[in-house]
Formats: sequence, structure tokens, C-alpha cells
Amino acid sequence: MNARPHIGHAYTTIACDAVARRQRMLGADTHFLTGTDEHGQKIERAAQAAGKTPQEFTDEVSAQFRALWDRMGITYDDYIRTTEERHKKRVQELFRRIRDNGHIYRGTYTGQYCVFDELYVDAVGPGAPCSECGRPTETVKEENYFFKLSTFADRLFNLYTQHPDFIRPETRRNEVMSFVRGGLRDLSISRSTFSWGIPVPDDPKHVIYVWLDALANYITAIGYGSSHKGAQEAFQRYWPADLQMIGKEIVRFHCVYWPAFLMAAELPMPKSIMAHGWLLFEESKMSKSRGNIVRTETILDVLGADALRYFLLREVVFGQDGSFSFDALVQRYNADLANGLGNLASRTLTMITRYFRGEVPYPSAAVSQKAGDSAIAESARKVIAECNSLFEQYQFSRALEMAWGLVAAVDKYIVENEPWALGEKQDEESRSRLATILYTSAEALRIVTALAHPVIPDATAKIWAQLGLGDIRKFPLSDLKWGQLELGAKLGNVEPVFPRADKSAIERMQKMEEQHRSTPSATETPSAAAQPVAPLVAPQTAAVPAVKPTTPPPDGKISIEDFAKVELRVGQVKAAEKVKGADKLLRLEVDLGTEVRQVVAGIAESYSPELLIGRKVVIVANLAPRKLRGLESNGMIVAASPEGGKAVLAGFLEDVPVGTRLK
Ligand SMILES: [Zn+2]
Repeated sequence: MNARPHIGHAYTTIACDAVARRQRMLGADTHFLTGTDEHGQKIERAAQAAGKTPQEFTDEVSAQFRALWDRMGITYDDYIRTTEERHKKRVQELFRRIRDNGHIYRGTYTGQYCVFDELYVDAVGPGAPCSECGRPTETVKEENYFFKLSTFADRLFNLYTQHPDFIRPETRRNEVMSFVRGGLRDLSISRSTFSWGIPVPDDPKHVIYVWLDALANYITAIGYGSSHKGAQEAFQRYWPADLQMIGKEIVRFHCVYWPAFLMAAELPMPKSIMAHGWLLFEESKMSKSRGNIVRTETILDVLGADALRYFLLREVVFGQDGSFSFDALVQRYNADLANGLGNLASRTLTMITRYFRGEVPYPSAAVSQKAGDSAIAESARKVIAECNSLFEQYQFSRALEMAWGLVAAVDKYIVENEPWALGEKQDEESRSRLATILYTSAEALRIVTALAHPVIPDATAKIWAQLGLGDIRKFPLSDLKWGQLELGAKLGNVEPVFPRADKSAIERMQKMEEQHRSTPSATETPSAAAQPVAPLVAPQTAAVPAVKPTTPPPDGKISIEDFAKVELRVGQVKAAEKVKGADKLLRLEVDLGTEVRQVVAGIAESYSPELLIGRKVVIVANLAPRKLRGLESNGMIVAASPEGGKAVLAGFLEDVPVGTRLK
């Protein structure tokens, strides 16, 4: 959260989205949680450097992340911010429970702290380098609350031994086991030298250690610690998580501290924690100081979300480090998507349209069967089985490689069988041979499309519709097998899904990135953009206690001027309709007296569109526009959102003119 989102952040979220989409296709009750971790000294300082309060800073950055996920069509079920009330209260509940169970004591901590990693390290002396990142550490000397981590070493070790899939991949598991074998020291879990955090229950001079706060999001978001019945049920239903997905740099927090906190609170362990590798830019680590961060928006603008999703999951062996470059992206896009799947779809469907009036032809009887036809069917069966098992293991790259092996086999099959030559002939044997070839190609296309859907959702939804099969998200993936393509089914409109990218695409993306670097956005004031956070702490000042923030007031209150910044107005709904492909969203046209605005609101589960027309609502009129599912939303509609319940729109008992300001 100390910087704008880049493709490294998108990588984790894309992988999670692919897993969630696939699980939904398999019929699993899926809950996909993401969010932003917003407390801690690092963020407090990044906000200071940007001349903002931590709340203003995190509001902006968190909104950027969320807007990007929405633009990319990430299908998260919940987005938690650790600054939300629901989270804060429940973290305090967790702290209380661990304390009541006897795992927390008061003590004095003197030692080195790395603000960048928000990590206590074993380094000795002021300014000594952090063992994780090499940045200078700060000396911390304060009375704190300690967690008895040392008493959990044996139980943790048993967990790793008895559940080999708890930490994946194996290299990370070995790393963690050797760390625990080296002995665990008790962990300071509160800080009193800064205030940007959640107060320790019954001792608000301290804030809870940011990692205890952040890790708890996995359970607070689904209702842990809530007294609300719906929230408690959600917690029972979704915890323990089947999967937590992380970057490898935070393995220790997730695989040592987190399970120990859960053990201390007597809660079940997540079933598996998968750590992916780093995304390097042309072989070197992306960082602000190197100026080689690639923004996701650039790739979305030029090639679209599917191109990025496919590239990252196909090019990088999941779990290992991978390299990103615009050249490699465009090359992969052209080879596998434009010339591969895209070309197979357009040539197969175009020929069915031309030769069979757009109806899936009947493969004919044995008379026109050849060995090549059954070889395709056979290899499709193998691909289904192997892809499924590779996806289960999060081996996205190999799963996609298998599926694209089928694309290549069908391409070869088409070239060898020359259906276009048969299409010129009218005799019965040629017609029936042509039918078999095109059926075989279309069926293989359908299978690859279904398997690839979790990774490239937009393009595969289009191909599926072009095959005349309706909504791909409703297809039960576990039933996928050869021969399900309905004979005589009518194809949809055939259109290319992946236009070929030429050399200029690379130049355009490079230029967009260069321009962006020379004109940082509002959240990146030059001082914040020019350097990473850690160098703000010079080695010679490392022993000086952290500067107390001047803002915000510690009780979280805002001034009347702050409130006046929010322009709330009475609007009247003129038109309302569901947003295609988004169960929760409605597109509204709202009259504000002076203009009619398009607003996209997440209230589709509470209100049917026809009930809203004519209704007066409260609109946040000066909210920066943002895009949801490709639709620009100009303003926000105000509603109460009860926990676990449906949204209820704010309204008026007395009549009030449209456009009136609320103040
Ligand atoms: Zn560090």
C-alpha cells in the first residue's frame, strides 16, 4: 500500500482470480477475498512524504487498487481494507482471545526494526542492515506486549511435517522449516512510538503490531469476532480457507506467525499457503528507485486484460521468479492468442458458417473417418484429464502448455486435411468428410475454450458464445468431455477475438510508461515518487525515535471543512438496468437537477431496476469518475450496508427537490 499498483500486484490477484473462476465452474461454494493492508509505520511515513494524512493516503491508494481490479474484471467476493471498522473490532477480539488464553505478556523490547518489512530483526547496533532487505534498521526500545512465539516451535514443526501441502512450493516449505528449526524468539506485538494502527484493547497507548493486524484479515473479513449471526455463519462456512495466495517475500509472516496466532486463538489452520515468485522486469527486480515499474493500465490499454493474464500464467512457472518484458508479452500474445487460439476459432467457425450455414455439422459415419480424427479426440481426452490435475496443483504454465498443445494439433490437422479444398466440392463423400473435419476442430476448440476460461475469461466467453453455447460461466467444468458439442446447433456471430499486435504495440507501451514516469500522478508527489520509502530513514538517524504524526487527530474525527468536501445531493433515478456479466451491479441514470449522471451501483441484489425508477436517492456528486465493468460511474449512491445483509438506500420521508445539497 505504500505505492500505486503495478503488474507485480496484479500477478497475485490474477492467479487468485483464475483459481476462483475455475472453482466456480466446478460448482464449488467459492469465496474470493482480497483487499489492502493499510496500517503500520511504513504507510504512516509514505503518507507524510506525500503530504497527506495516513487516512487520506490509504483512501487514495486503496481506491486505485480496487479500481484496477474492477477494470480487470477480477471476480473478488469481498474487498477488505484493514482500516474498516469491521476489521478493527475483530482484530481487537482476536488479541483479547490470545491474551485470555495466556499467550501474551508485557516486556521490554530493545533491538532492531526494519520499517520497510515491518519486521523485528536480529541485527545488532543502530543502522545495522536488515537481514531480509538490506535496508538500515532502526533501534526500537520500548515497553511492549509480547507473543509467546517460542512456545509454538514444536507444534509448528508438526504442522509442516503432517501437512506437506500447508506451504507450497517445496522450496518455501524447506526455508520455513529451517527457520523454525533455528529456534523462535517471542514476538513483540505492539508499538507505542507511532499511532497509525489498531489500539491494543484496554491499553490504547499501544497499537497492535501491523502483521498481527494484517494477517487477521483472512478471518475478520468472513466474520470472525463478530456478534452478528450472519457473520458468524459465514465464518463457519468459509474458514478454514482452502488457499491463501502470497508473494514469497512474506512467507515467514504467513507460515510461522499466522499459524502460531491461530493456534494461540484455538482456531483451525488454512489448508494451504501458496507462495509465488517475483516478477522481474527484463531480469531485474521492479522498484521505484530503478524506475522500471510497469503499470498494468498500459497493458490493458494496448492489449487487454486477457493478454496480461495469459502471459503471466503461461510464461512464468508459478512459484518461481519470472521475467516480464514488452517484447516477450507481444511475442506470446501473437504466437498463442492471435495466431493460436484466435486463429483456430476464426478459421473453424468461419468455415462452418460458409459451408454449413452456421450450423454445427454432423460428423459422418465410419465411411469418412480417418485416423487423424480419432487422434484429435484422444488427445483432447488426455488434455482434459491432465489440465485439471495441473490446475489443482497451481501449475498454470504447464496446464496452459498442455491445452495449447491441442490447439497446435488441431491446426496441423486442419492444414493436412485441407477442408477449404473439400468445401469447393459438392459430392456426398467430400461433404461428409468436410463435416467430420469441422466438427472435430470445433469440438477441440470448445474443449480448449472451457479449460482456458479461468485464465482468459473475456475472449473465451466470446468464443463460447460464437460456438452458440451461451454463458460459459454456467458450464459445469467437471462434466467436460469429448463429444458434447450439439449437432445442428446454431453458431453466434463470428468475430475475431485477438487482433494481431504489430511492432508499434511495443513502442506504444514503452512510450506510455516513459510519459507516466515523467508526470507522476497526484498521489505520487515528486518526493514520494523519486525514492522508495526506506531511504527516508538515513543510517545516521536510525536510532532517533520515529516522528509522531501531526495529523490526523488520534480519535479519528474530521473537521467540518473535511465534511464539506463531500458534495451530497438529492437525485432522482430516471433509468435503471442490470449490468451484463455483473450480478451485483446496476447502471442508473440519475437526474441531479442540473444534469443527468450515469452511476454504477452495487445494489442489484437488493433492488430490481424497475422499482428504482422515479425514486429519490442521495448521491455523492463530486466523486472522481471510475470505471466498473467498462462503464463509467459518475458519483456514488448512498446506502446503508448491514453486515451480511442487503443494502438499503438512503431516502427522505418528506418530499425534497431534486438537486438539493445535503449539509
Ligand atoms: Zn527489511
